[in-house]
Amino acid sequence: MTLTKKTESRPAPASWGLAARGGVPWEYAAAPEATDHISLRPEYGIFIDNEFVPSRPRAWFEVINPATEERIARVARASRADVKRAVAAARRAYDTTWSRLAGSERAKYLYRIARILQERSREFAVVETMNSGKPIKESRDVDVPLAAAHFFYYAGWADKLDYAFPNREARSLGVAAQVIPWNFPLLMLAWKIAPALAAGNTVVLKPASTTPLSAYLFADVLLQAELPPGVVNIITGPGEIGMELVSHHDVDKVAFTGSTAVGKMIARAVAGSHKKLTLELGGKAANIVFDDAPLDQAIEGIINGIYFNQGEVCCAGSRLFVQESVYEPLLEKLKDRLSTLRVGDPLDKNTDVGAINSAGQLAKVQELVQSGIEEGADIFQPDCELPDRGFFFRPTLFTGVSQSHRIAQEEIFGPVLSVLTFRTPEEAIEKANNTPYGLSAGVWTEKGSRIFKMVSAMRAGVVWANTFNRFDPTSPFGGYKESGYGREGGLHGLAAYLDLSPNGTR
Ligand code: NAP
Ligand code: MG
Repeated sequence: MTLTKKTESRPAPASWGLAARGGVPWEYAAAPEATDHISLRPEYGIFIDNEFVPSRPRAWFEVINPATEERIARVARASRADVKRAVAAARRAYDTTWSRLAGSERAKYLYRIARILQERSREFAVVETMNSGKPIKESRDVDVPLAAAHFFYYAGWADKLDYAFPNREARSLGVAAQVIPWNFPLLMLAWKIAPALAAGNTVVLKPASTTPLSAYLFADVLLQAELPPGVVNIITGPGEIGMELVSHHDVDKVAFTGSTAVGKMIARAVAGSHKKLTLELGGKAANIVFDDAPLDQAIEGIINGIYFNQGEVCCAGSRLFVQESVYEPLLEKLKDRLSTLRVGDPLDKNTDVGAINSAGQLAKVQELVQSGIEEGADIFQPDCELPDRGFFFRPTLFTGVSQSHRIAQEEIFGPVLSVLTFRTPEEAIEKANNTPYGLSAGVWTEKGSRIFKMVSAMRAGVVWANTFNRFDPTSPFGGYKESGYGREGGLHGLAAYLDLSPNGTR
């Protein structure tokens, strides 16, 4: 694909802001994270009743590293029969062990899992990066520590459910079916499994097909923690296996994170059943910068908001709204900062933007960027070199974007920012809420009163003020409108795995 029309670019990042020595720009030396401490198996069966077993019939699919396009392992492709086996194992474990354990005993397992995740954090960070394409500094500093933090947090509630929900009797639901995406494979696993187990449920989890490896490494952690067999089962396979799982009659709770299109299909599939459902779907978040905001700080928030994890983030700040009076200085600073981002090998500790997760996702990003050009927006990309192999895409921003452009309406799920302007707070509110989504938003201003006004006017589940993409296990996260319903994290996230109705009728 060629991106020629109206393309503006800046010099390569290596020379940016760094003193030249004898006319030669300083270069960063490569700083690759070691991979020799990782021992991945060449193949992984599905994980049922604490055993890795082949699928029936035996079938496999390959898992590749999106930064090199090389095969890392192959994993079993589960069948309908495997879904039944996995749900049966979870049911057995629920009936015979897990639902009968005291909360304090469940907590011990969760604490143990959290500690093992911390002990093995380097290994998890490398595997997550190799499989997903995200920069090692993010998997090391964000994904893995936050995953462990979720287990610690929910471990603390496991024996305190009566205090968590005073005057309510908290009952576990049964078997939870959980389907997760590829953008935060381990973290989404933790968001799903930790509250499910703390509440006393058992689990069948289906990771995304491009990123199953950290889930199977996590299965090793479960063995190490001596979790009873069947409490957590993990199956891999295509979307239809996810549908098979959530539709299984013996499932009591369904939790899904992924696209709005699949979320709607799942909502239809479980409608009319007894199953409790939470959906965490897409987003098109507004990041709103007022003219009194500290611009340098806002620039860091904007960059983090959209280029973190290559923009493959449901709550990414993909629509930037800038108050007209600061538009020009802000845009200059933003372009400068964009040009310093280091794009490339995700295993390099200096890399800011890694590989897009799959060829399919890269094609989707390219198609939407092309639509932005064709609809008349102006594209800006830094002039950085991309590796020869792998699914890489330059961090991109568009100006001259109108509300009706596809790049302002659709979730791109890539490192692409659409910049728009506004004059008054009312105009910002109206434009920011003009989207079918409502997952998150950001506000940058020095005025506290304005923060309150904006936060209450935003139709979004999470609103950050003078920061962006902050996560904490104690804080509920979830959407409005087509971004889904239900909350994950905090007590709300625990309630989603419990029956709190007066007489157990839900
Ligand atoms: P997706 O299809 O919704 O995939 C998410 C998970 O659902 C994966 O485990 C997937 O399995 C599974 N799945 C797919 N079809 C299913 C079905 N019919 N029934 C049950 N489960 C099903 O998302 P995607 O295709 O990977 O990405 C497409 C777009 O979705 C992205 O461009 C982005 O806009 C959005 N997305 C949002 C999030 C988020 O965090 N909210 C995460 C990922 C993607 P397979 O991997 O085997 O297909
Ligand atoms: Mg899909």
